[in-house]
Amino acid sequence: MNTKIQELKKILGERAKENELLARYTTFKVGGPADLFYDAKTADELTQAVISARRLSVPIFILGGGSNILIGDRGMRGLVVKNSTNAIVMRGAKGSYKSGQSTGKVFVEAESGVLINKLVRDTIEEGLGGLEMHLGLPGTVGGAMFMNSKWTKSESYVGDVVYQATILTPTGDMQTVSRDYFHFGYDQSAIQITGDLVLKIIFALTPTSKETLWEIANQSVAYRRESQPQGVISAGCTFRNISKAEALSVPTPNHTTSAGFLVDHAGLKGAIVGGAQISPIHANFIINQNHATAADVVQLIERARAKVLEKFGVTLAEEVVRVGEF
Ligand SMILES: Cc1cc2nc3c(=O)[nH]c(=O)nc-3n(C[C@H](O)[C@H](O)[C@H](O)COP(=O)(O)OP(=O)(O)OC[C@H]3O[C@@H](n4cnc5c(N)ncnc54)[C@H](O)[C@@H]3O)c2cc1C
Repeated sequence: MNTKIQELKKILGERAKENELLARYTTFKVGGPADLFYDAKTADELTQAVISARRLSVPIFILGGGSNILIGDRGMRGLVVKNSTNAIVMRGAKGSYKSGQSTGKVFVEAESGVLINKLVRDTIEEGLGGLEMHLGLPGTVGGAMFMNSKWTKSESYVGDVVYQATILTPTGDMQTVSRDYFHFGYDQSAIQITGDLVLKIIFALTPTSKETLWEIANQSVAYRRESQPQGVISAGCTFRNISKAEALSVPTPNHTTSAGFLVDHAGLKGAIVGGAQISPIHANFIINQNHATAADVVQLIERARAKVLEKFGVTLAEEVVRVGEF
């Protein structure tokens, strides 16, 4: 492997770094070193890095904003590519003009490394609706496509307004695919299984008054401030909420689907393992309180899962993606 890493390093040039600690590229601030790390600034750099690594059979991991991952303490083998692509382009409109107001859809294309918050702000400023409720969502557009990231008040998903995307398949084909390809669902997107890399996404947005959009966006941010722990180091929600069907069949108290409620009522708010703690404010958040290791976090996850199973008969699935060697 080491010879291949050296070969890949030569191809990628001096910006490729060996044994780069990954903790600093994640919101959890947890994780060991990557054999090789490369920060891709353009779509071309991103594609070339992936193609070169595949040619050498070096495993690849694409890192977006690192806001939904738990990287193992022993780090990641192969190449980790940080996606720092950042272009946003207007691609035109479909519809008509009525009384000076555009109707129909406006198409906006974003590279997958664009920060969701930047895209939300820019589209609101253009008077384009569909993403405004996601203001405050950390991470990149690519990460949001992988997770089909969501806002729950009221229920909306980033995938709802996807029109089409350009992907690079694991066999190296560049394809343009429509929204249907992704089979978006709750925390679900087909690329979790296919392993495609998303390069660019076109969103179909609806002309709406800027004032209305800012009002919705600001309400989302205010609700986040009220309901989520602030100023802490975390990867957001640890567990996925359960389905309505499961909540009814178990049944859970008041048929709740909330993973946070179950962890809380299993008595785990504030529980600590090493440097990791279940937030005393929001039981579905694990916080890195004091130089937590991935091992601390995993232990806390397993403790919460076991307690919830014992108390409610529900096995919680993780929302946070575990990657690398633990
Ligand atoms: C404080 C806080 C609040 C949060 N609030 C929410 C919330 O309200 N709703 C919500 O849904 N989530 C929330 N999250 C979780 C997280 O922010 C989202 O899931 C986010 O969309 C992840 O994007 P990312 O770029 O950080 O992905 P990363 O964590 O970098 O990666 C996640 C996965 O996506 C893959 N990936 C990344 N880019 C690409 C690409 N271009 N092509 C293919 N695969 C790719 C990675 O390989 C990895 O497997 C929150 C997290 C935090 C820390």
